[in-house]
Amino acid sequence: MREPSKDEIIIPEEMALIPLRDMIIFPNLVVPLFVGRERSIAALEAAMKEEHIVALVTQKMAEVQDPEPEDLYRLGTSAIIMQELKIPDGTAKALVEGLSRIEIVEFVQTEPYFRVKIKVVPEDEQTDIETEALMRNLVMQFERAATLGKPIPQEVLLATANIEEPGRLADFIAFHLNLKIDEKQQIIEAVNARDRLEKVSVFLNRELEILEIGSKIQSRVRDQLTKTQKEYFLREQLKAIQQELGIHDEQAAEMDELKAKIKAAKMPKEVNEKALKELDRLAKMPPSAAEASVIRTYLDWLIGLPWQKKSRQKFDIKAAEQILDEDHYGLEQVKKRVLEYLAVHQLTKKIRGPILCFVGPPGTGKTSIGKSIARALGRKFIRISLGGVHDEAEIRGHRRTYVGAMPGRIIQAINQAGTKNPVFMLDEIDKVGTDFRGDPTAALLEVLDPEQNFAFSDHYLEVPFDLSDVVFITTANLLETIPPALRDRMEVIPYSGYTEEEKVQIAVKYLIPKQVKAHGLTNKHMLIDEKALRKIIREYTREAGVRDLERKIASICRQVARKVVEGEKKRLKITEKNIHDWLGPSKFRYGLAEEADEVGVATGLAWTETGGDVLSVETTVLPGKGNLLLTGSLGEVMRESAQAAVSYVRSRATIFGIDEEFHSKSDIHIHVPSGAIPKDGPSAGITMATALASTLTKRPVKREVAMTGEITLRGRVLPIGGVKEKVLAAHRAGIKAVILPEENKKDLEVVPKEVKEELKFFFVNHMDQVIDLALKPAAKIRRKVPALSV
Ligand code: ADP
Repeated sequence: MREPSKDEIIIPEEMALIPLRDMIIFPNLVVPLFVGRERSIAALEAAMKEEHIVALVTQKMAEVQDPEPEDLYRLGTSAIIMQELKIPDGTAKALVEGLSRIEIVEFVQTEPYFRVKIKVVPEDEQTDIETEALMRNLVMQFERAATLGKPIPQEVLLATANIEEPGRLADFIAFHLNLKIDEKQQIIEAVNARDRLEKVSVFLNRELEILEIGSKIQSRVRDQLTKTQKEYFLREQLKAIQQELGIHDEQAAEMDELKAKIKAAKMPKEVNEKALKELDRLAKMPPSAAEASVIRTYLDWLIGLPWQKKSRQKFDIKAAEQILDEDHYGLEQVKKRVLEYLAVHQLTKKIRGPILCFVGPPGTGKTSIGKSIARALGRKFIRISLGGVHDEAEIRGHRRTYVGAMPGRIIQAINQAGTKNPVFMLDEIDKVGTDFRGDPTAALLEVLDPEQNFAFSDHYLEVPFDLSDVVFITTANLLETIPPALRDRMEVIPYSGYTEEEKVQIAVKYLIPKQVKAHGLTNKHMLIDEKALRKIIREYTREAGVRDLERKIASICRQVARKVVEGEKKRLKITEKNIHDWLGPSKFRYGLAEEADEVGVATGLAWTETGGDVLSVETTVLPGKGNLLLTGSLGEVMRESAQAAVSYVRSRATIFGIDEEFHSKSDIHIHVPSGAIPKDGPSAGITMATALASTLTKRPVKREVAMTGEITLRGRVLPIGGVKEKVLAAHRAGIKAVILPEENKKDLEVVPKEVKEELKFFFVNHMDQVIDLALKPAAKIRRKVPALSV
């Protein structure tokens, strides 16, 4: 039997009614129906006997078991029963398809089942632009709901796109929404298609909002999941894999070992806790993780540091004195100060006083004294150089978040010492730089301040380290460039450089034996005689200390060693005559700075980082317009002092018998040779004035005289610094007489006696005296007369 097509079905005016409890049937949709109540079964059976058509109307309240007509909505659906299945318990299941909206006109009977007279509600088929827009909007909303995760099958989505009748589209979509019964009933009752579309759209919109909030919550939850859960899951998986591969045991063993090491390191409580916390983190990580190796390195640092380890203090002032003398020649003042310092240290147990700062030229034994102090105290000796340190991080380290971060130099050095109470030398504290990378001074202050350094904080370590048992010593070449905040905390001990005699003694007693031994040689292999040694000092080195001298001796030892290995049997003698075979041609001319008394060239004395030095000042006067030309890398102060020198000479023009207007008719050029080396300071003032006066008066300068002093505009001579170094330099250079400011007389006390004996000193307080002492009368020598006659 052919089923009649829907359009052919004629809906009768009277039919059986099945009341629905919690569902609504829409026209054109097929739904299964469970029929349980007696009256409903009777209705179903009656319908099956007729046209298979029933009225399906929903109860206003689902819980009513035996509804009366007034319990039912007036509007419902007529439906055709496509299939019926009787179930043994007496109930039935039917597949029905909605046909049309109907309105109950009248109840014909209520027993044994409802029978009603109905009126079909016609569908409103017409579409105008507005309904079209409503329809499209609805389809779009529906699709959006699908993308937001509403479970809508693909074919349903496709079907919506193909429905052309507005009312039907609204029904179809309403059916697929999670609407409450009364809401669905509102759709059934919206007879006008446009009303129905609008109603559905409102419901769908609400659904979309819910979906959107839901998806936001979802993604938030998912985010959290990815962070914690995912890591956890992965780790668990990894653990399982590792267990399978037998790796886990290795890791566990490593953890045990680290734990034991942490315990053995005897860290302070706080540090210990930190270490265990990190260990715990490590244990939870796969051993190959990048982070794991960072933690491991960190733990190694914590474990390696000497939290408790100390060298046992042994101190005996007599023994200390002996050690200092054993290792060093001379340096009496230094040794005295160091012994006093150690005595105070012995009494107070802790270093609470200022930090020792050794200031002086290179190679004068600063490091060496530091090592002896360590030896006298029975402690380890470590040193770091601060030269060129610009960045606080170099002192304090980088935070662990930096790739390849390490502790700063202080902690590294302590680690290297292996004890918490070493003698710690901070070299070149005068060369610490301050710039945009941060100020290392602040970090150094913390290191050196006994009030703070018991809890020194290193960025990498993150835990404080106690530096209060460390004996700090600093060294510098110049006092002036030490940051003032640091200088305040230091007790300065000057090292001023050695005389030739002292150098000879140091070489014979210390440097030569040390180098001979270091090269695996003995006295049987070589001998450097004293004359040769003096020649090395005078002509191969020019320094305040003995560093170069030691290098030259080492160079000779190396050559001797080679000859010995090559089969040399004789004892090799290094003499004044053959020294150039060993060291090549001499580098410096020993003797007077100038070969003859010259016009326009005066010898000055300078104080440099490497000790004292002699320097010559040359002047010439050329036709011109009164320019003052200064060359030779002169600093600001030195330039000003050149101007003062010129003004002085101008003020003395009549006395010197020179043209008073010389400065406006000529250009003056003052040059200080060794042009590449920067020079500064006021102490060349009188030298420049002397050279200029010599040029203008054509009186030569006595070549065996050297001078130093600041000059004022009116020719007063003011005191200068670095007298000892300057005098030693003059002595080294073979100068015979030195002109010094009167006020510097007292500084000669510290100059070694043998030097004072060999030099003549003149003390002046006015430039006129300098001219008298340094210049020869004009008539005798007529060399190098300047081109311009004035
Ligand atoms: P600084 O630290 O002042 O630059 P060093 O301590 O390194 O100088 O000294 C350089 C070398 O000279 C070292 O081998 C040191 O032992 C030696 N030396 C310096 N002064 C003396 C001295 N007074 N007695 C013995 N050796 C010395």
